[in-house]
Amino acid sequence: MSSLLVDNIGELVTNGAGEGPLGIRRDAAVLVEEGRVVWVGPSAYAPAADRHVDAGGAAVLPGFVDSHAHLVFAGDRAAEFAARMAGQPYTGGGIRTTVGATRAATDEELRVTVRRLRAEALRQGTTTMEIKSGYGLTVADEARSLRIAAETSTETTFLGAHVVPAEYADRPDDYVGLVCGPMLAAAAPHAKWIDVFCERGAFDVDHARAILACGQAAGLGVRLHANQLGPGPGVRLGVELDAASVDHCTHLSDADVAALAGTANSDGSGTRTVATLLPGAEFSTRSPYPDARRLLDAGVTVALATDCNPGSSYTSSMPFCVALAVREMRMTPAEAVWAATAGGARALRRDDIGVLTPGARADLVVLDAPSHLHLAYRPGVPLIRQVIRNGVPQ
Ligand SMILES: [Zn+2]
Repeated sequence: MSSLLVDNIGELVTNGAGEGPLGIRRDAAVLVEEGRVVWVGPSAYAPAADRHVDAGGAAVLPGFVDSHAHLVFAGDRAAEFAARMAGQPYTGGGIRTTVGATRAATDEELRVTVRRLRAEALRQGTTTMEIKSGYGLTVADEARSLRIAAETSTETTFLGAHVVPAEYADRPDDYVGLVCGPMLAAAAPHAKWIDVFCERGAFDVDHARAILACGQAAGLGVRLHANQLGPGPGVRLGVELDAASVDHCTHLSDADVAALAGTANSDGSGTRTVATLLPGAEFSTRSPYPDARRLLDAGVTVALATDCNPGSSYTSSMPFCVALAVREMRMTPAEAVWAATAGGARALRRDDIGVLTPGARADLVVLDAPSHLHLAYRPGVPLIRQVIRNGVPQ
């Protein structure tokens, strides 16, 4: 059995037992066997191992869990971004531009993009990345998008209900029928989750409920895009359907916050439905940020993710999102780091990632910094010195 010891860790973020909300241990070491953490303790008492990584007194944290990304697409929308920065508003209408380019692309072109973005994220410390379909919007194009996504991630999400494609613009009910029928049947073998963009201009609450219920019946877990561009019933629909996560949460009423808080687990471990905040989208659309403080103060579990996509948030960087969350959303550095690791895991209903405790998957990031604080304190700086994924140094 091959083992790996990471020792001489100045500050170890475990998200388990330890100091403060991040479960910090000082002068620590982590022993890994068969891709799992098997021991965490003082570096001075670390057992021997076959291989050795000396963290040199730096900070080590769980790999980032990016629970919301759209990687299967073709083309880019840099010109749309430039126009928006020159004053045009974001409406979500540009999604159809990417749909056209994606349908025209070969499987290999889509595969190359997914792999390139996944590798880019890995270099920035992301060890788990959810990947959605949603730029095909035909039975064949959604199925191939998910097939390609599943080559790279086990956390794959069917988003056939991203927008109503142009050819169904006059008959959205027919499109919902297609999504719930043949499209879901073709997508489900490659997907773990189902998602809907529940927003004015995309899918209303009745269509969203129907689609998510079909997905649940097909064995998929529920997550959804809700309350991004304006107030609406999306978040409450997510709570009604026991969604693992409601994503964006930019425009929330008191009733929305109360509904999320009402999903609190009885053991005090936060809420069953997570609010996933995507500050890269507000950054890239020059929009007001969600109020993370309000959610946290109400006891709602918060995750951070990139929303990596070519239209409204073309970043794969979780450190960037952590920095934005601290600067723009009034999260403390500890809250933001927790949300980007353990919070993302909770949004995917996983307990084997986002933590560094015995039994967890050995996904670790060694920072080029003495503390997790530097992720927000030194924005834009490449602080990821080394990534270990599944026990394997990358
Ligand atoms: Zn999204």
